[in-house]
Amino acid sequence: MKFPSEPFKIKVVEPIRRTTREERERLLRESGYNLFHVPADSVYVDLLTDSGTAAMSDNQWAGMMLGDESYAGSKNYYHFEDAVRSIFGYKHVIPTHQGRMAENLLFSTVVKSGMSVPNNIHFDTTRANVEHQGAQALDLVIKEAYDPHREIPFKGNMDLVRLEETINRIGRDRIPLVMITITNNSGGGQPVSMDNIRKTRALVNRYGIPLLFDACRFAENCFFIKEREPGYADKAILEIARELFSYGDGCTMSAKKDGLVNIGGFLSLNNDQWVQDITNMLILVEGFPTYGGLAGRDLEAMARGLKEVLEEDYLAFRIGQVRYLGDLLDKAGVPILKPVGGHAVYLNAKEFLTHIPPSQFPAQALAVALYREYGIRGVEIGTVMFGKKDPATGRTIYPELEMVRLAIPRRVYTNMQITYVAESIIELHRIRESIPGLTMTYEAPVLRHFTARFEELPPR
Ligand SMILES: *Cc1c(COP(=O)(O)O)cnc(C)c1O
Repeated sequence: MKFPSEPFKIKVVEPIRRTTREERERLLRESGYNLFHVPADSVYVDLLTDSGTAAMSDNQWAGMMLGDESYAGSKNYYHFEDAVRSIFGYKHVIPTHQGRMAENLLFSTVVKSGMSVPNNIHFDTTRANVEHQGAQALDLVIKEAYDPHREIPFKGNMDLVRLEETINRIGRDRIPLVMITITNNSGGGQPVSMDNIRKTRALVNRYGIPLLFDACRFAENCFFIKEREPGYADKAILEIARELFSYGDGCTMSAKKDGLVNIGGFLSLNNDQWVQDITNMLILVEGFPTYGGLAGRDLEAMARGLKEVLEEDYLAFRIGQVRYLGDLLDKAGVPILKPVGGHAVYLNAKEFLTHIPPSQFPAQALAVALYREYGIRGVEIGTVMFGKKDPATGRTIYPELEMVRLAIPRRVYTNMQITYVAESIIELHRIRESIPGLTMTYEAPVLRHFTARFEELPPR
């Protein structure tokens, strides 16, 4: 079946409110046309992020009631440690409250000023944590990743030629580790093949450099391997995951993605010396090593979520639902980034709104229109988020792509709600000429997309 139906039934419901166009128009004006400042209860379908927005299962909620809130040695920690070890296979398991803390602990311990960290593409918090150490974050994904029309099965792969050139140019002593992000979030949720991972391992082995995974969407990546890579069709997801992680020395994880929880993360590593140093830092900034900034109940929910996320019915539905949205849009001629990745559909705003020049923020304009007309919230990934000022000329340097990301929360929306999203966007595409451009009236010096304010330009 191309688009499997929901492998669950609904036990608890959370009402969502329909708002009027007038109300949304007012909220947009008040928020300066910045959707980060629109209250969530005024959003009908919220596709801002797939992070921490999952619906937990009855089994996870039951586990929450079995929370053992002992300061040290909570039984939930041992359940969690077992779950992580059985999938990832690394010696040490360090809980953190979310992914960026795992990154911070790792990089502040092993990355020094003047070093470089190669990755397929760094996620923004990963990049920020590398740069915070005075090191350089290098994105070495294959070139095809930057072409929105290029359909290849593993568009998240590391460019092994560039990786080897980079190691030779910089020197292995200044590369404390190589990372691979699965799936490649910033490149559209595209998977990395087992073959590419195996070859990356062989390459870094020749130079004695450790390989770590940014494992946030590992189960989705393993599902793509099963579906697309020769030799994996008959293997269980768990088996694929174990092989994949066997090529690494550890991982960082935001369990807010493939942990199917609303808060939580971890770091799992083989290196004893790193772990000793990280544990000391953990106690200083996060908590004792058997809770790491979380309650016992959160650890139990994570332990159970990590098992559920490997279920094939779940993954087939999950990946299928994202693909379903992409398919409906593509068939109707709406320009999207292809192929559709694991967690989101990306609208290609440059092609959607050809009448709005990059200086008038087409992706932001599209996200605003989607909310105003239909109450759907996506997120701009374009000039507002990544545009830079040329320090010499003061002119804006525009990013390659202008996109609106529609990230699908896990197990939250029904396929009917996803159909509503598709039909809304198809209708909006028909009236696209009426969407006005924007002008920015306020910007903060860093991470401006969170607080920027805009005004609408008069319609053409
Ligand atoms: C979300 C994410 C992170 C950071 O995790 P948080 O839980 O948000 O701190 C790191 N890497 C990738 C690929 C992510 O998607």
